[in-house]
Amino acid sequence: MKKSEFTLEDIAGAVDENFLTGWCRTAELEEASYLDEELKIGLPNVVSLAYPLAGEVFNTFDKYPSGVYQNHYRTVNNFLDLEALKLSRYISNLGSNALPVPASHSVEPFCGHLSHRMAAMLSGNGWIGKSALLITEKYAAKVRLVTVLTDLPLSGRKPEIPFKCGDCRKCIEICPVKAIYDDPQEFNREICYKYLQSLIKRDIVEELICGLCIKACEGANHHGWLKSRPSTT
Ligand code: SF4
Ligand code: SF4
Repeated sequence: MKKSEFTLEDIAGAVDENFLTGWCRTAELEEASYLDEELKIGLPNVVSLAYPLAGEVFNTFDKYPSGVYQNHYRTVNNFLDLEALKLSRYISNLGSNALPVPASHSVEPFCGHLSHRMAAMLSGNGWIGKSALLITEKYAAKVRLVTVLTDLPLSGRKPEIPFKCGDCRKCIEICPVKAIYDDPQEFNREICYKYLQSLIKRDIVEELICGLCIKACEGANHHGWLKSRPSTT
């Protein structure tokens, strides 16, 4: 007999175990940000997946994104799309419908099909930091995101994670074009985008990437106290 409700645990096994997973309602996502007309196909739930970037890749550059970082970025985005496809197929086999929404392949100046980071925040995978990136508790900003829309009946949501940037200003200080402010709402997407375009024009990279605010971010560990704290377990 077909189950009437599924939890994240029921579907998480379809993807790599290192994913952070969560889900929210499509209507909430639309209300909080936007949903492309093409995605308004009656799928009420959103599954958000966040995959960690390799930490070592951030040691390959200081000022400008390295070729290694660019290739890693491409590899992870391709992996995300394949994993979202796998999850969608898994959900189809459970008897429901699912649509993988392609991973964002750049920092969009205006809009993509939906906001992967807003979906991730509403799904309890992290908070939107001062840099306007999704900040996770486990990997800080060093993640890439993908989203699957589905009508699989889901239950057991994770709570949203509150804003935890506190007095950290690492991303503000490192941004070469001063696009980041203390209020994430004030993030200047246009200035950031123009800078990313300039890196392409100068033949530094071929993708709209910079990586400095991602590299600098330590998330809620921004004082470094977690690293030095003696274990209590
Ligand atoms: S990607 Fe680069 S330019 Fe854009 S906000 Fe981050 S540090 Fe600034
Ligand atoms: S670097 Fe600090 S202020 Fe910026 S997003 Fe990360 S935790 Fe927040």
